[in-house]
Amino acid sequence: MCRTHDATPVIRNGVAIVACRQCGMVTFRNRDSFGGIAALFADYRMVGRVEAIGAPAGEVVAFRPAKSSDRSTMDAIPPHRWFRANQHLWMCHDGSVLLLAHHFPLVSRMLGA
Ligand SMILES: [Zn+2]
Repeated sequence: MCRTHDATPVIRNGVAIVACRQCGMVTFRNRDSFGGIAALFADYRMVGRVEAIGAPAGEVVAFRPAKSSDRSTMDAIPPHRWFRANQHLWMCHDGSVLLLAHHFPLVSRMLGA
């Protein structure tokens, strides 16, 4: 949790999200990082694995909203930048595709990928 900077939480799917642009961290006020991401992107479908070029971890999995019109959960986080959720998990999006980067295959199983 970023306690250094005064970032305003955004509520999506009942989850309070704080994306600190200064720390590059995304945190959840009422969930841990895995639970927060799982709740936030519950309706997303895995598209596949992508090359981890420029990514902060070796495994990168791409997701899309089940309905292409439903991008509001992604909008809670600034686009085109990796945000760290915890020491093992990062996220990035471009407004249509969500990328999760992580160190362990276990993470993708936890996220249902
Ligand atoms: Zn911060």
